[in-house]
Amino acid sequence: MSANPDVDELLVAHAAGRLPEPVSLVVATHLALSPAARERYARYEAVGGALLEGLAPAPLDPASLDRVLARLDEGSGDGRPAEPAAPAAAAPSPRLPRPLRDYLPGPLDSLPWRRYGDGFEYELPLGTPGYRATLIRVRAGGAVPQHTHEGNELTLVIEGAIRDANGRYARGDLAVADASVDHLPTAEPGEDCLCLEVTDAPLRPTGSPDRSFNPFVRF
Ligand code: ZN
Repeated sequence: MSANPDVDELLVAHAAGRLPEPVSLVVATHLALSPAARERYARYEAVGGALLEGLAPAPLDPASLDRVLARLDEGSGDGRPAEPAAPAAAAPSPRLPRPLRDYLPGPLDSLPWRRYGDGFEYELPLGTPGYRATLIRVRAGGAVPQHTHEGNELTLVIEGAIRDANGRYARGDLAVADASVDHLPTAEPGEDCLCLEVTDAPLRPTGSPDRSFNPFVRF
């Protein structure tokens, strides 16, 4: 799922500083979780820098690229080595990458979650007009309500994995959906799922009406 052209467009826009804050947060978190995305992003940054300096695009200096990649690794690694082990008595705590963690007012379990399908959602207080950024937690095997989209939807898997008609997305994968997609994202069995989702328009439910849905949708 790492070579999606839509995702690469986002990486280019992020390198140019052209993304609204919620989308920028998703991309930054994606970069923190995905070494493959970081590598592609470093190339876009290097090319963008060369263009800004009025230089003709030239083959990248491998040493320079290595330094950039090393810096990214230091600054935004996927957190695995640095994360302290969760206390044995506590519920498993998903490993939150830095850009996202900095946006949360407290630990996951302290947030005011609301029911959403088989899971729960929490809306981040970003306040960017037209955008909605939510964390979505779904138990292993559970699903969010089937829906399509009136605009764009970015779903970044933070923990666990989800499947829909388009494929499987695991930790660090970024799924892009729009009005052409009608899906029923479902957490894989065996591990609870946590996703960061950003939309720029309401979702429209298309499945069974008896699942609870968020109040922002238009019926
Ligand atoms: Zn969707």
